Amino acid sequence: MKQWIALATLAAVSAGAYAQAFPGNKPVAIVVPFAAGGPTDRVARDLAEAMRKQIPGSNFVVENTVGAGGTIGANRVAKAAPDGHTLLLFHIGMAATPALYRKLSYKPLEDFEYLGMVNDVPMTLVGKPQLPANTYRDFENYIRANAGKLNIAHAGLGSASHICGLLWQTNLQSKEAMTTIPFGGTGPAMTALIGGQVDMMCDQTTSTTAQIEGGRIKAFAVTTAKPLSNHPVLKHYPSLQEMGMKNFNLTIWHGLYAPKGTPPAVTKMLNDALKKVLKDSEFVKKNENLGALVVTDNRTDPAEHKKFVAAEMLKIKAAVDAAGKYAD
Ligand code: ASP
Repeated sequence: MKQWIALATLAAVSAGAYAQAFPGNKPVAIVVPFAAGGPTDRVARDLAEAMRKQIPGSNFVVENTVGAGGTIGANRVAKAAPDGHTLLLFHIGMAATPALYRKLSYKPLEDFEYLGMVNDVPMTLVGKPQLPANTYRDFENYIRANAGKLNIAHAGLGSASHICGLLWQTNLQSKEAMTTIPFGGTGPAMTALIGGQVDMMCDQTTSTTAQIEGGRIKAFAVTTAKPLSNHPVLKHYPSLQEMGMKNFNLTIWHGLYAPKGTPPAVTKMLNDALKKVLKDSEFVKKNENLGALVVTDNRTDPAEHKKFVAAEMLKIKAAVDAAGKYAD
């Protein structure tokens, strides 16, 4: 008995000591599995800054590990040392890629500690500034009149822009052929859109809002069920549902992950900090300005986060299997 108490005390003390030692003077990398300058990168940079405030002396930095719809970055974190110094910020792709890539080199539910969800981000259907269309209806007419000649950018198979573009194209009344152009993220895709090298894209508001506001791209619709009527920039665009695409409702959630086996004292510290970040008015405002909403429900709880992702995985797998289209 005495021995047990001694062991238990030792375990508690060393867990506490580890938490105290973490993060020490070593930076904590938040791996973004897409290119810099894109929507996930935007969220990660704001998150890194807000986390730094919550854990005094910490240095959260963002690292972009690009490719294969986010799976290369996710794999990097799955295989990283489980010491809390390498984290992953991933979106709906965490649940979508296992259905699309049948030979994934990591297991989304088994290889990570779930640290809580971060935010929900709507998407927008946007076009290059030179497009003659100004409304969604004009846009559809233009597509019809230019069947086979247009292209649509995305951030790789299984990315949010890819999923959104596919859903939208399957809902178009006339199935006009379009060429898809994959990028390492919608950051570089946005540069090509602004430059007129690609015609259109479906991208998250964390990336598109500032560009729409600056008049550098055209926006035609939002992907949420209802228009974003409280947002000063995005309120001007109809929802795809209003435009006749029944049941079209797509919002991109993000979650934070650590490699499996990260000490509980560290995951708790990170989860506690994340929960505080989601109540930090500056972080909340930054999200709102970009059309996003921070998570306020129990999805900030790691167990709920994992349950949510598991349910999304099943839903998406059923849809992907029904379509029979895979990335590999
Ligand atoms: N989240 C990706 C990025 O940050 C884009 C996407 O998933 O479509 O580039």
